Amino acid sequence: MEVRDVVRRFGGLAALNGATLSVAEGEFVALLGPSGSGKTTLLRALAGLEGVDSGSVRIAGRDMAGVPARARGIGVVFQHYALFRHMTVFDNVAFGLRVRRQRPPAAEIAQRVRRLLELVQVPELERRFPEQISGGQRQRVALARALAIEPRLLLLDEPFGALDALVRKEVRRWLRGLHDELGVTSILVTHDQEEAMEMADRVAVMERGRVVQVDSAAALLRAPATAFVAGFVGDAA
Ligand code: ADP
Repeated sequence: MEVRDVVRRFGGLAALNGATLSVAEGEFVALLGPSGSGKTTLLRALAGLEGVDSGSVRIAGRDMAGVPARARGIGVVFQHYALFRHMTVFDNVAFGLRVRRQRPPAAEIAQRVRRLLELVQVPELERRFPEQISGGQRQRVALARALAIEPRLLLLDEPFGALDALVRKEVRRWLRGLHDELGVTSILVTHDQEEAMEMADRVAVMERGRVVQVDSAAALLRAPATAFVAGFVGDAA
């Protein structure tokens, strides 16, 4: 996927101010930056949940201007993009398949939902409701829901934010392993340096609506492009 010179204004404020980023197929990239630097707006623009004032968003070589969110083939897991509370875990995961124009037969949906719940290691929870499971389990179910549509791009916005530190570490490692197994191109938004450095192939550092450097964790530490990057990634050490 490629975002080029994207600008998105809210009133007088440019949340994205010429943001450019390319992510290769199968890659895991973290968007790292302080609060307000434009990370979430960039993800939302990719997902088609937010329009852009100028610049281009391309996925698999195709310009996404005018392509609605549901037609982009993107799975999203947002911290505040909660599960549907009135639906069981099973129905939450099945949701994306049931709203499709080409809706698979019920037996096939059931088979896929069960396979996904096994993949995220909570097969025993299918009949529960979101409030009957833990925060970590909810994030696993949210991930299964995002993966159900077989996305070509997976967007994760602070997916571990609601978890306590210990669970967060564990889920982090597990998610990176799952990425390696599935090979889904993934972009993770975080303001946590350690998380970005530990999980991603490359880290894109954002400052005031722009991506100021994209590099491996080691290269960012060794050769930060600006004083801002040095200060920001340096905090992790
Ligand atoms: P981050 O994810 O890095 O914390 P955001 O992308 O959420 O940053 O926000 C970037 C800037 O844009 C912030 O100053 C934020 O207040 C502003 N912003 C984001 N969404 C909106 C909106 N819908 N209306 C007005 N301002 C917004």
